[in-house]
Amino acid sequence: MNALLVAVLLSAQDASAPPIDAASPIDAAPPIDAAPSIDAAPPIDAAPPKDSAPPIDSAPLPAPPANPLPGFAIARVRTHDRVVALTFDACATRKQSNGFDREVFDILKREQIPVTVFPTGRWIETHPAEANELAAQAWIEFGNHTYSHARMTRIPRRKAVQQIVRTEAIIAELGRKSVAFRPPAGAWNRSVVRLAARQHLPTVEWDVISGDAGGHISAKKMVATVLATAQAGSIVIFHINGRGPHTKEALPGIIRGLRHKGFGFVTLSDLLQRPDAQPVSARPAPFGFRPLRSKRRGQEPAKGIGDEDLPT
Ligand SMILES: [Zn+2]
Repeated sequence: MNALLVAVLLSAQDASAPPIDAASPIDAAPPIDAAPSIDAAPPIDAAPPKDSAPPIDSAPLPAPPANPLPGFAIARVRTHDRVVALTFDACATRKQSNGFDREVFDILKREQIPVTVFPTGRWIETHPAEANELAAQAWIEFGNHTYSHARMTRIPRRKAVQQIVRTEAIIAELGRKSVAFRPPAGAWNRSVVRLAARQHLPTVEWDVISGDAGGHISAKKMVATVLATAQAGSIVIFHINGRGPHTKEALPGIIRGLRHKGFGFVTLSDLLQRPDAQPVSARPAPFGFRPLRSKRRGQEPAKGIGDEDLPT
């Protein structure tokens, strides 16, 4: 399976790659039943079709398979490699452009931790110098977090496509290209995943919530939460736009603790391309982690993390 993902990540750089066909593994993906909390049950197994494309074993690379991206949002991957991917969102909205948490950036730079940053298009526009600074770092890769931090499951399809495409164009102006799409508030369904796939982007969420959003959780608790929940192939979510006032206090302890437990740090694209990587689906969250109406419909937080601490 990971060979398929590799093919896609490679093909993502090929502008001539054919558009992804609607009649694809996405449509064939088994329905995922809605409900429980992250810790009430293990994430749903990826089980992607193994016979849908030929193996990649010789140069030149074969044409990419019709649609090798999974038909779900990825929470983490199964891998034997003891690695985790730290990810940092920068979610500017119309009302709130937030800022840039330079202390977080400095810690990551000093430690040379490979990370994936998911800015909104608006964040890049409101922080041009910082965005260019991020783009100049070889240890940082970019993800797409929509243009205006829109809740993708609640806007018309045409606008949803624009949210991704417009942001991708802004990221391209930085000389970069996204490696994944992360829907704001974690709100996803299969049509959102399909839209991102048509832009050659896997939809990626997280399985470890640092709890930094809003600053309600202490640095000490953040460290304990991440160290207790991270496993091989985990994707950890933080914020680098100042939404997490305690992130900079918690980060050194998290990095030290994870290293102590034998974990290495990799970018998201590296994680997804591990030779034995098997993507694991995030729980369905059509209304996102911050449900608009029904709490029961949203994804439940990890133990000890309250609603107000959830990623946005
Ligand atoms: Zn966000």
